[in-house]
Amino acid sequence: MSNKSFSLSEPLYKYLCNVSLREPPLLRELREETATRDDANMQIAPEQGQFMALLLKLIEARRVIEVGVYTGYSSLAMALALPRGGHILACDINSDTTDVGQRYWARAEVADIVDLRLAPALNTLDKEIAAGYAGTYDFAFIDADKTAYSDYYERCLTLLRPGGLVAVDNTLWAGRVIDENPDDEDTLAIQRFNAQVVDDERVDISLLPIADGLTLLRKR
Ligand code: SAH
Ligand code: CA
Repeated sequence: MSNKSFSLSEPLYKYLCNVSLREPPLLRELREETATRDDANMQIAPEQGQFMALLLKLIEARRVIEVGVYTGYSSLAMALALPRGGHILACDINSDTTDVGQRYWARAEVADIVDLRLAPALNTLDKEIAAGYAGTYDFAFIDADKTAYSDYYERCLTLLRPGGLVAVDNTLWAGRVIDENPDDEDTLAIQRFNAQVVDDERVDISLLPIADGLTLLRKR
């Protein structure tokens, strides 16, 4: 997996960041702490975080779902873009990594916005639907285990209001999506997901080649 725009040369990527990135100091510190970990490439790239923050402001989002928190960089980027009283239903199963995020959410004074649920995300989303929250969310970011992407997508669509947006990460999967006979479940799952949504009449769609590919799906 990669979290960089693999189609950009390194100097051009640096230029892009120089002329557009406004990463707040705490996000930068969290990114630097995360970078010391072996699995740091799981974290979204900073320009993607900034883009998602822009999306939240554009649609005036208040209620957000995040499937896959890791060390909390994407959660923090989104929390900082929400108004006071905003809410992120943040799903993960690994408290070792979410503990890192929690420290930064507290320091950034958004701990009240990020509602961390440590449980398999499908359970959390199904509970949320059963509790009557269908149609109440504005935005969902899907970035956890790839083999469950289709399941997460269906739950998130249910939880979104019409006009709400789902953003699905890693949909170009470092280019492996064009392999004709992939032998790993993750590539197959992303290929299946991509093939499924292109004809889904319930949504408007755009796949942006930002970072590792980000598919935007707007609920009609
Ligand atoms: N969005 C994060 C990266 C997420 S990495 C960021 O930008 O920093 C994927 C995360 O999905 C990992 O933290 C992993 O623990 C989590 N995950 C894997 N399977 C899961 C499941 N079944 N339910 C919830 N989270 C899961
Ligand atoms: Ca990702």
